[in-house]
Amino acid sequence: MYRSRIILLRLVPVGLGGKSAKSKIFLNLGIVMANGGNLVPVPWYPVIWNRLNLPKHSIIGWLAIQCRLLTKDRLLRFNIISDGYCDMCLDHLEDHTHLLYRCRFSVCCWRLLADWLDINLPDTDILNWCIRWRCRSLMKKQIVITAIMAMIYQIWNARNICRVDN
Ligand SMILES: [Zn+2]
Repeated sequence: MYRSRIILLRLVPVGLGGKSAKSKIFLNLGIVMANGGNLVPVPWYPVIWNRLNLPKHSIIGWLAIQCRLLTKDRLLRFNIISDGYCDMCLDHLEDHTHLLYRCRFSVCCWRLLADWLDINLPDTDILNWCIRWRCRSLMKKQIVITAIMAMIYQIWNARNICRVDN
């Protein structure tokens, strides 16, 4: 059911085109209008909308790759909160890079995942690394991307649990 809704949302830009705010939101799901009116996927489209991803992982990954998760640095900018420290380590300002890749908790998670997958992951910006990563086996690439997307979701979920528990 969720997957069919996402597919529907992805198809909306084809019908809308236009420059309304609504169509812009849908276009940001991963399809942009190129010269000549052709619809072309953005580079991260196959990573975020990988067919093996759970829809909830895709949504959080979609927000993360655009740096649109409501991390504390963004909430500070909107004056919604006054304390910007990461709830996981209580040591640094929480922004996308810190939360997803630099926090002690995240670093530990990525190491465990890299060992489990038997693959070398970069220290930071793993989502963009997925776009550039060349792999001979399409199935292996899809499985690795699925695991990475699940990890992004789990880190975000752990952060939210930490935040509520504090
Ligand atoms: Zn931290």
